[in-house]
Amino acid sequence: MSNLKHYLHGIIAGESYYTFQRKLSFIASALTVFHLLMAIAFFLLHIYSLMILNIFSVIFYTSIVFGLIRKERYVVALMLSFLEISLASFVTTVCLGMDTGFSAYLIAMITSAFYFSSVVDDLKKKDAVPFFLSITFISFYLITYILMQKIQPLFELPNKNWVFAFYISNHLISFIMMIVFSYLFVWENKCSQQILAKKNEQLDELAHKDPLTHLLNRRSMNILMLESMDALKRNGKRFSLILCDIDDFKKVNDTYGHDAGDFVLIAISNIITQSVRSDDAVCRWGGEEILILINDPVETASMAAERIRKKIEDYVTYYEDQEIKITMTLGISESIPGYKIENLIQQADDKLYLGKKSGKNTVVV
Ligand code: GH3
Ligand code: MG
Ligand code: MG
Repeated sequence: MSNLKHYLHGIIAGESYYTFQRKLSFIASALTVFHLLMAIAFFLLHIYSLMILNIFSVIFYTSIVFGLIRKERYVVALMLSFLEISLASFVTTVCLGMDTGFSAYLIAMITSAFYFSSVVDDLKKKDAVPFFLSITFISFYLITYILMQKIQPLFELPNKNWVFAFYISNHLISFIMMIVFSYLFVWENKCSQQILAKKNEQLDELAHKDPLTHLLNRRSMNILMLESMDALKRNGKRFSLILCDIDDFKKVNDTYGHDAGDFVLIAISNIITQSVRSDDAVCRWGGEEILILINDPVETASMAAERIRKKIEDYVTYYEDQEIKITMTLGISESIPGYKIENLIQQADDKLYLGKKSGKNTVVV
């Protein structure tokens, strides 16, 4: 019972845990229970032919349909179920009359045909199938109606209460079916949109970021630097570049291992990202070289660079209980109208080289 509640809750909430196989199994279970109840009702009514027909339906779902679902042959399972519902609805209506409402299932199945066609992956002619099925259901419905205008039902129910009870329950179940399948249709659409948005985000990350440090990659940085250059040309907005290089990083790798080196690189990247403003950009320019674009004049960039240098100097990393201390040297250049980006980076690199030569752990402007 708690299993059933779990199933119901999951299906209504549309949790992704409820795979298509589980959903189909649930629907096949519901159909089995429905036919079992009908078999009992027809037994009580002494209409044994319909009782046997419903027992056959129970056997059909428990053996054939469940087997197909287990083997993931969803299309065949669905088509056979649609056929069973159509035939059962037709035969029961011919036996008991239109008033009992058994033909309502033919209309309710239209929404399920559209839902299943949209979610079954291996269905050929996805767009045409639900229309074809709908036309079949409607044809069944109309043929049943026309036929019942011409003939009398084969069996007569003992009193009007049975007709009333069948009419109400069949229509109620049909309306619930329509609501559930329409809801599932909308919900799964929403889910695929969310999955798509997430995939786009991941693709965006792959295209613009460095996978190790999650800093911008060179390509994105080049675009941002060109934008800053444009802003300089158009309205004289100055910007600066800070090129940073970890001091004696080879030693870190040699002493603590390459993984420790990666760990330090990530930590340093985070420190730098947190030390600049959101409209500045931080990029992994090369191995352990980080390039920062500061959208401010060199005076502001110098202060930022000194702040970063000090933070890294004070920072102690622990990798597998080993204490690692590192320092960084930073070279700064400022935008000059008419200069190319490459010239500015070269200038920052020259300053960085000066800093390395003069003992490292310093900022050179
Ligand atoms: P210097 O103070 O002159 O910069 O000395 P250095 O040892 O840092 O020398 P250099 O900058 O030339 O060397 C960079 C080293 O950084 C070489 C390479 O093994 C290491 N490195 C580059 N990229 C990575 C990386 O992604 N992970 C790790 N662990 N090491 C890297
Ligand atoms: Mg280097
Ligand atoms: Mg270095």
